[in-house]
Amino acid sequence: MTDTLIDRRDLAFQLYEVMDTEALTQRERFSEHSKDTFDAVIETADKMAKEKFANHNSAADKDEPKFVNGQVEMLPDVKQAFDAYAEAGFLAGRYGYDLGGMQLPESVMAACNGFFTAANPGTAGYPFLTTAAANLIRVFGNEEQKTKFLPNMLSGRYSGTMALTEPHAGSSLADIRTSATPTDDGHYLIKGAKIYISGGEQSITENIVHMVLAKIKGAPAGVKGISLFIVPKFHVDENGNPGERNGVSLAGLIHKLGYRGTTSTALSFGDDAPCHGYLVGEPHQGLKYMFQMMNEARIGVGFGAAVIGYRGYMHSLEYAKDRLQGRKASEKNPESPQVPIIDHADVRRMLLAQKAYSEGGLALCLYGARLMDDQHTHPDEQKRMEAGKLLDLLTPVIKAWPSEFGPKANDLAIQVYGGAGYTREYPVEQCWRDNRLNPIHEGTNGIQALDLLGRKIWQDQSHGLQLLMQEMQVDLQAATTDRCQQWALSLSETLQQAVKVTQSLGKSLMGGEVDKTLANASCYLHLFGHIIVSWMWLRQANAAANALASANSDSERNFYQGKLQAAQYFFHWELPTVAQDLVLLRNQDDTCLNMKADWF
Ligand SMILES: Cc1cc2nc3c(=O)[nH]c(=O)nc-3n(C[C@H](O)[C@H](O)[C@H](O)COP(=O)(O)OP(=O)(O)OC[C@H]3O[C@@H](n4cnc5c(N)ncnc54)[C@H](O)[C@@H]3O)c2cc1C
Repeated sequence: MTDTLIDRRDLAFQLYEVMDTEALTQRERFSEHSKDTFDAVIETADKMAKEKFANHNSAADKDEPKFVNGQVEMLPDVKQAFDAYAEAGFLAGRYGYDLGGMQLPESVMAACNGFFTAANPGTAGYPFLTTAAANLIRVFGNEEQKTKFLPNMLSGRYSGTMALTEPHAGSSLADIRTSATPTDDGHYLIKGAKIYISGGEQSITENIVHMVLAKIKGAPAGVKGISLFIVPKFHVDENGNPGERNGVSLAGLIHKLGYRGTTSTALSFGDDAPCHGYLVGEPHQGLKYMFQMMNEARIGVGFGAAVIGYRGYMHSLEYAKDRLQGRKASEKNPESPQVPIIDHADVRRMLLAQKAYSEGGLALCLYGARLMDDQHTHPDEQKRMEAGKLLDLLTPVIKAWPSEFGPKANDLAIQVYGGAGYTREYPVEQCWRDNRLNPIHEGTNGIQALDLLGRKIWQDQSHGLQLLMQEMQVDLQAATTDRCQQWALSLSETLQQAVKVTQSLGKSLMGGEVDKTLANASCYLHLFGHIIVSWMWLRQANAAANALASANSDSERNFYQGKLQAAQYFFHWELPTVAQDLVLLRNQDDTCLNMKADWF
């Protein structure tokens, strides 16, 4: 079993040779950093992920948390990992020095977090949820809320959750029923039930800060009536110290296919005792606040899917080099030595596909993280605005593409192992089970497709789309070698067809054919996603082709050749699969729309 979580050479290539992350140190916010400090923090993350997270990944999967005598019992290693992550400063890694943070760029923090998820997605869930919840309070909370909760969350004393989903309202948050009744004391009484809340109960931290969506009595119907509340498990005093129990309780633990180390909880609010909630920001703006944080969460999900795919690829690559089986098809001598399975072209196909999906997904998510950096720290205001628009447009793709193709990579990893891959003796089946969550949570991929085709493409008169095309042009023009130019041409031709199809879909939407047009939104997401990831591969190929000429060792030449071959795989084997999407979208195929429930 390999202990490589993410290939450090690849990560350095993507961060510095493709994206020029070092240039961020020229910005005021990151001026105290250098490539050395970025590398040092990445080194710490890699080491800690191996020592404190990977060490119990399999054990936490086999021995999942239990509800015993009103307490959640879990492996002590989970707390040790959480505490180590907090003590190393990662919880506040992206925040300013004023909040005790390291003021690291999103791109570097995302890379660091990649190691933790690759090592143990279940345990990594607790700190990631905590930072996301803390970020909501940091941006939208009032001073009192920040004083009471932020320091304790960023130090790891308290954890956080995101409590949106209800038994009858998952994709359709407009229909949530949890209610909030104002009191004369300034707080609200929360009543209702939430389900699937990750980290909703655990035995790691002194307190849990739930970020809860609820509707204030008399609020407008639908999403316009949703407000956001802080609901602590234990009440806190003015200094943020925990006191009496609040009326939020664990109704049950949910048992899952994967991600078993993260508790999944059904929570009840206000059933056994009054449950106090504290309004964040303005009433009825809750979903808007949540959605402003969704970019972060969705990039996180995409990143997780890419790196779990990556982890399975690393395992199966090592296995394929060791496992001896069969001979070349042309070898007739049965007494000749058997070859490692990596010598079979079909096994290389499966490894190349994994490499293309996981390194392509990683490139996409790092690009998304860089857009976040540009949105907040680019010195040019115009560029900040443009980065925000690009990020908004690409968020459904960054969430959905890796979460579609990460599990596909894991499926291929199982296949590379043969029978061994199907057993629990080897790690790749757990990778697949863990990764299978990613197309479901943070908005299913079906919902991402609707968001992309129904909203994001048309926002601001499609300004985001125009910016995207301009960005792509830069890399299309930068292709210099014959190989790269050929791929640039394929990408450019596919792009032109996609633009035409987009225009015709736009006309249908304008003409009121909403259901018909959006019926094939998933095809559009696949088309769009594959175009974007082809672009990511072109960027990598351009950088590799340029560096290859001056590479001064076999390992460097092999690295760049590997990048070019994986790019070739993507352009020869993957990009052409969008032809089917183009046909279905062009014809506005109505097979699914017109199928009747009674005909099944
Ligand atoms: C392990 C796990 C952890 C989770 N963690 C959290 C958490 O921490 N906090 C939290 O709040 N939630 C959490 N969730 C909930 C998660 O976000 C929801 O499961 C998800 O949003 C889907 O909602 P649902 O399960 O109700 O499915 P449904 O909404 O019932 O969807 C079922 C199917 O119908 C499709 N569908 C639904 N509506 C439409 C539509 N309008 N058009 C087309 N297709 C549609 C969906 O794409 C899906 O395929 C978690 C879920 C899991 C499994």
